[in-house]
Amino acid sequence: MGLVHQVFNEENLSPLKGHLAIGHNRYSTTGGSHLRNAQPYLIETMYGPLGVGHNGNLTNALELRRTLLERGVGLISSSDSEVITQMLAAPPPGAAPGKPDWEARLTNFIDLAEGAYSLVILTRDAVYAVRDPLGLRPLCIGRIPANGHPAGYVVASESCALGTIDADYVREVEPGEIVRLDADGVHSVRTADQPPVSRAFCIFEYVYFARPDSVIENQTVHRVRQRLGEALAREAPADADIVVGVPDSATPAAIGYAIASGLTYTEGLTKNRYIGRTFIQPDDRLRRAGVHLKYNPLRANLEGKRVVLVDDSIVRGTTAGPLVRLLREGGAAEVHVRVSSPPVRHPCFMGIDMARGEELIGHSRTVEEICEHIGADSLAYLSHDGMVRAVQAGIDGASGHCSACFTGNYPIKLEEYWTSKEKLVFEGVWG
Ligand code: SF4
Repeated sequence: MGLVHQVFNEENLSPLKGHLAIGHNRYSTTGGSHLRNAQPYLIETMYGPLGVGHNGNLTNALELRRTLLERGVGLISSSDSEVITQMLAAPPPGAAPGKPDWEARLTNFIDLAEGAYSLVILTRDAVYAVRDPLGLRPLCIGRIPANGHPAGYVVASESCALGTIDADYVREVEPGEIVRLDADGVHSVRTADQPPVSRAFCIFEYVYFARPDSVIENQTVHRVRQRLGEALAREAPADADIVVGVPDSATPAAIGYAIASGLTYTEGLTKNRYIGRTFIQPDDRLRRAGVHLKYNPLRANLEGKRVVLVDDSIVRGTTAGPLVRLLREGGAAEVHVRVSSPPVRHPCFMGIDMARGEELIGHSRTVEEICEHIGADSLAYLSHDGMVRAVQAGIDGASGHCSACFTGNYPIKLEEYWTSKEKLVFEGVWG
């Protein structure tokens, strides 16, 4: 439990030997933050060890879990990722006994599972990388160049991870694809089965979640955020002197806003880089305190200025209000908030744990009410069409994106139990 640097060190990493490995940084979207829900799951099967790391959220996990329990499979956690592991532990119906059949098991899993899953799977001889047919969450392949050793291959959620180990970006795992990485290299053992237009890659990854130096759908996230800011400036100009971004995630959008508006871009908030992202902290009190720990106003740049404050999104509204106050305390004469995405009005059930429906400030309040709540002089959001256009402008050919947290149009049919209990749906068994 804890951050990577709190858990791993030279001493406990150096005994790990081998040529295949998987790891996972869990950010809970089904099941609470407990050690029993930590990944990767590792079990023993007929054909040796099986390890599973999962980014995403299965939306039919209740049915799949019930099927396993009816078969007599015991489960020790409240995570949907353990359900995936146990589904892969058994051969599919009609499978011939006697030889490892991971690809048939994975294909069977894809046929039965609904929702978001980018998977890394460790077996005795290979690592498999699998992405759900809608391609909701990212997953990419990199190559570690031969350097006195045989070349290696690696998969990661985001391409920004590749550079840290000197790997070169190769390509994305396609939606619905199964890729096998073994001693002979990379092989696609099941190819994509969705035309690009019916895919549903999460547009919120572009807005906020992904790192700006990652490449997704062959475009750099930073460049997309800049385009979002440019579109925002065209749609929602402000009578102001300077443009300030909420660091770091809104910086590219603020630069884009400044370029398109002709206003001066400057820093107005200094960020303490050792405090984590605020929207995923577990309660509102910590989240509010987090804003004050995390940012300081830069008076030298703000004094007497009419400020456009660009943020990438407003989720609960607990950050925007304190930021507006901080800018005023720092000397800003006016604060006009501009948001490079539409109001977040609906929860996500596909792997982003942003908030329950009623916790979202956009769920039940108008833009005017939100403006009053955060104490801004004016507030405007980028339109949904403007956001989609800005994202898709850099993609060659057809593409499809999920934007359900803005529109309520989910790409997957959702059962009632998800929309009522959300991520703690399996916690009851633990009392
Ligand atoms: S609902 Fe929003 S956060 Fe969730 S997958 Fe869709 S776009 Fe992403």
